[in-house]
Amino acid sequence: MPALHRTSTILDHQEFVKAVYGLSNDRYFTTPDMLTQMQRFVMRGLKGIRQGDKKKATLNLVVAMSWFMSLMNQLHIDLTAATFKRFPNLCSYCGSRPCACKKQKVKKRKRVVAKNGRKPKTIAEFQRMFSNIYPPESRTLEQSGIHLGEEMGELTEVVAIYRGSRKTKDFEKISQEAADFISCLFGVFNSWKVNASLELSTLFSRNCHVCKKAPCECDFRFITNFKS
Ligand SMILES: [Zn+2]
Ligand SMILES: [Zn+2]
Repeated sequence: MPALHRTSTILDHQEFVKAVYGLSNDRYFTTPDMLTQMQRFVMRGLKGIRQGDKKKATLNLVVAMSWFMSLMNQLHIDLTAATFKRFPNLCSYCGSRPCACKKQKVKKRKRVVAKNGRKPKTIAEFQRMFSNIYPPESRTLEQSGIHLGEEMGELTEVVAIYRGSRKTKDFEKISQEAADFISCLFGVFNSWKVNASLELSTLFSRNCHVCKKAPCECDFRFITNFKS
């Protein structure tokens, strides 16, 4: 029975959505469709931030995170590797921990080289790593939300570019933007002290969180109208 736990890894989350939603994803959703679903739930999450509704924001962002995993599966991206390559315990832009972009007025992206720091294993460890790189005290919740919106746009852009060119160099940008997206998602969770792995393991304690089946048997119209 597919389930997520407090100690689940990002790969576990990818495997979980494959087992539960792989069938309906393959049949119903193209890559642009998948992005649309992701965007819907990210935006609903941002609405939760605007309204100060933490429960609404959390649920929608956890659902958005799961659509994101489905997108990563469809594109065969190992999100753990992509994330640690971009953020090896350091800010991907200034190469420091904590990030010193503002303090140093960094104008150009530095080449960030992975040192011997420990690679996070679980989702919880990744969340902690991002909290260490980007301490939540350095920004407001709203700023984190806006940044997440920006990264959603950038991910959409690079996917569209790749779909136009089908070139490897453009595909690599998807991995980079995917890492930026998840860093901002953890950024919002950290700003609002949401424990992502706890929320994921509560929502996905057994199969699909709605129909409770694996594979999910939710109807297409129901999925595309699902309000949370
Ligand atoms: Zn930085
Ligand atoms: Zn279902």
